[in-house]
Amino acid sequence: MIPYSRQSIDQSDIDAVVETLKGDFLTGGKIVSDFEEALAHYLGVKHVCVMNSATSALHVAYQIIGLHEGDEIITTPLSFAATSNTAIQCGAKPIFCDIKWDGNIDERKIEALITPQTKAVSAVDFGGNPVEIQTLKNLCNTHKLFLIDDASHALGSEIDGQKVGNVADMTIFSFHAIKPITTFEGGAIATNNTEFYEKAKLLRSHGVVKKTHWNSDMIVLGENYRLSDVACALGLSQLKRLDSFIAKRADIARYYDERFQNNPYFTTIAIAPTKKSSYHLYPILLSSSLWCAKEELFESLHVKGIGVQVHYKPIYQFSYYKERFGEHRLANAEDFYRAELSIPCHQGMRMEDATLVADTLIEEIEKIKGCNR
Ligand SMILES: *Cc1c(COP(=O)(O)O)cnc(C)c1O
Repeated sequence: MIPYSRQSIDQSDIDAVVETLKGDFLTGGKIVSDFEEALAHYLGVKHVCVMNSATSALHVAYQIIGLHEGDEIITTPLSFAATSNTAIQCGAKPIFCDIKWDGNIDERKIEALITPQTKAVSAVDFGGNPVEIQTLKNLCNTHKLFLIDDASHALGSEIDGQKVGNVADMTIFSFHAIKPITTFEGGAIATNNTEFYEKAKLLRSHGVVKKTHWNSDMIVLGENYRLSDVACALGLSQLKRLDSFIAKRADIARYYDERFQNNPYFTTIAIAPTKKSSYHLYPILLSSSLWCAKEELFESLHVKGIGVQVHYKPIYQFSYYKERFGEHRLANAEDFYRAELSIPCHQGMRMEDATLVADTLIEEIEKIKGCNR
């Protein structure tokens, strides 16, 4: 099976982990700050605070902006549930804004959703394709809202020559196994705001500050969201390989882009010339005549060893959300969910694999007789 995404672990990664395992600090040591500094340097941001998942990082970011009962955040339905779950955990209500046909939040539809309760906008760089971050930032500044960018897909993505992570108040990254780099599980907050960074460190570790000798104080209600030195050793090693991972995925994406140009069955998502994608995902959007056959196509591709996936079921369609916040239907999010398939695109693939994926995809689509349900 060629999965839609997969981690890539080599001997240098294994050596880094093993060396740390043999060391004095499995957690709470210097490798954590080494990884944070390396990430900050890579991104060109002032501060990075790593945590044990992007979900933890989102939760902490919402705590830092003081999200609480009665607040609203405007966010995208086309994400992993954690983007809005963590806001709900802080007591806030997610207000879903429709997306554009590239899977990113539609910045033109946000303003109409702002109320006196709105506290923040949370966007997602879908598949690694950067959102219109400056437009979102200007909008947030005008309305005095915080901007959180869930860039779980977008480590290494760029907009106007600048790495994703520099514009939002806080940018969240994920190091889950199949994200752009991995620390097994893991995540981070990147920020240029020193106060936010200090709060993130505090909340990550119980809200406890050291005083003198054995004496400590607990000053805010925090969590244990720390990332271990062993995980950070893997992260440091992976970070050295990130640009080569992205280059490999970009090669595959370029091949797909050309191969699929003007095909009658689906469209692909063009990345603007001012942007660079991490290509965490390579989404295709089936034409509407094929939507009813997507299950059949998904199954037949899996039988042929092509591990396609669908990103994402709109979050408001989950039963928890329906029961708590009522029924919603956003036209583009609905259609995108019907149309989207993420086809394999990862650094472990050879170009022959990409050719096989493309050949098999076209073959299997052509076998579909049409929708007779
Ligand atoms: C993967 C992902 C998350 C959650 O990341 P974890 O590190 O697994 O907690 C959040 N948001 C998006 C958009 C993701 O893709």
